[in-house]
Amino acid sequence: MSTAVEIRTLPNYVGGSWVEAADVETLEDRDPATGEVAALVPLSGRAEVDAAVGAARRAQPGWRAVPPQERARALLSLRDALVANREELTALVTSDMGKSLADAAGEVQRGIESVESAAAIPHLLKGENLEGVARGLDVEMVRQPVGVVAGVTPFNFPAMIPLWFLPYAIATGNGFLLKPSERDPRPSVWIVELIDAIEAIPPGVVNLVHGGRDAVEAILAHPGIDAISFVGQATTARLVSTRAAESGKRVQALGGAKNSLVVMPDADLERAVPAIMGSAFGAAGQRCLAGSVCVLVGDRPRQDEVREALREAAAAIPFDPRIAGDPAAPGHRAEEAAGLMLAPMASAEARERAEAAIAAAEAQGAEVVLDGRVGGGDAGTTLAPTIVETDDPDSELAREEVFGPVLTLVRVADLDAALEFVNGSRYGNAGAIFTSSGEAARAYRHGAEAGMLGVNVGVPAPVAWFPFVGWKDSCDGDLHANGTDAVDFYTRKKVITSRW
Ligand code: NAD
Repeated sequence: MSTAVEIRTLPNYVGGSWVEAADVETLEDRDPATGEVAALVPLSGRAEVDAAVGAARRAQPGWRAVPPQERARALLSLRDALVANREELTALVTSDMGKSLADAAGEVQRGIESVESAAAIPHLLKGENLEGVARGLDVEMVRQPVGVVAGVTPFNFPAMIPLWFLPYAIATGNGFLLKPSERDPRPSVWIVELIDAIEAIPPGVVNLVHGGRDAVEAILAHPGIDAISFVGQATTARLVSTRAAESGKRVQALGGAKNSLVVMPDADLERAVPAIMGSAFGAAGQRCLAGSVCVLVGDRPRQDEVREALREAAAAIPFDPRIAGDPAAPGHRAEEAAGLMLAPMASAEARERAEAAIAAAEAQGAEVVLDGRVGGGDAGTTLAPTIVETDDPDSELAREEVFGPVLTLVRVADLDAALEFVNGSRYGNAGAIFTSSGEAARAYRHGAEAGMLGVNVGVPAPVAWFPFVGWKDSCDGDLHANGTDAVDFYTRKKVITSRW
């Protein structure tokens, strides 16, 4: 296991062995801070997916027969190994995805907590029974694994999201195939190397196939896959959920987001402004829980006061991506200790798309309050904190995901109008209110149409014991990732009626 930036073609992991994907194209996995190529990613297709599904199917019956408490112990071994090696994984997340070490450490911690919560599987798997539903007749419900599950994950949490799916999928007795983002799959490789090294999970239970669209197409078409857990952009999520449903696969497809942060006139700005900075600009705005629209509530002088406080705080965020995105850079830890530091964006293309969205808004009359377009930097991935005010609440910038360090401001008169704006979104991942009024907080939590809400909290990420509940276009499927939803998703219920 190594975090060294050696250029190697990443192998797939099938049936407990590392195998090269022969005769497939490769994609460069670049370090967002330096632009240097860190690895080559094979773009696997049908043959590689088929081999991994075969391995998972062969291993699954034996794994299912392992008692749940032994499966839990295997997960606890994984948990201990992750804890013992967390700094290595953290540094790898920073160098592959670009987020700062503090952010990466938070992501790794959440991944570990997901493993810990799945280790409660002997309790979580328990069924129900009702004795004597008729004379001499008993009914019981048991949960059984669905079979083989595929996890298809995005670039922005390259350790945490694989660790949302893998632990619960295998704890429940399934075989598992991970298809990580082709843009930063090295943390996934590292996690699977760890699984290989601890030897607590039998070969074939966990498999890893690298690739992009073709690999996902092969997963969607494969009759040996029973369920798909997906996270990515809303358009990809819709495509995956539609195709999976057509082929009779169970699916949970978590999509994009446009989360609003409502700032009430009575908000304590000393607390709210740093929380909004972290939410909007942490990880360069590339979080699905990022607050990307700030709804300024109140009269015009108060709105101006909040806008100025946001502009000043955003302008003061240090943004040297070579320091933020390089775990070994001298100054990384000192900068981090000083507070929020702006990371590079994942790629030059992502930065170009974000800048194009700002330019389009400007052309439609929006005002750029703070302009972070500073030329892209050496790797083409630099976009400094940007704030844009629009008076069109239905403009593209106010409604669609930019996935960069861009905060849109809209003004409304009161909480009712704020809720109308919030609920006008096609997304419903998250949102937050900043207020010192319990009444306003209560009205907001009652009325906001989003699954994860913060009250004076900028990033309302639930812990692993709760489901990750996007609404509307932020999640296709009835069952969410994590918590008891994950157990329901990865199992089929069976009801047995007995007379003896
Ligand atoms: P993406 O949709 O580009 O890629 C996600 C996965 O889908 C990758 O593994 C990729 O290989 C695959 N893929 C991409 N295009 C495909 C296609 N046409 N057909 C089949 N498969 C395809 O997403 P991304 O850019 O890597 O991730 C960022 C997005 O993920 C953002 O929109 C973000 O909001 C979202 N996200 C959502 C959540 C959530 O909980 N709702 C969490 C994290 C990220």
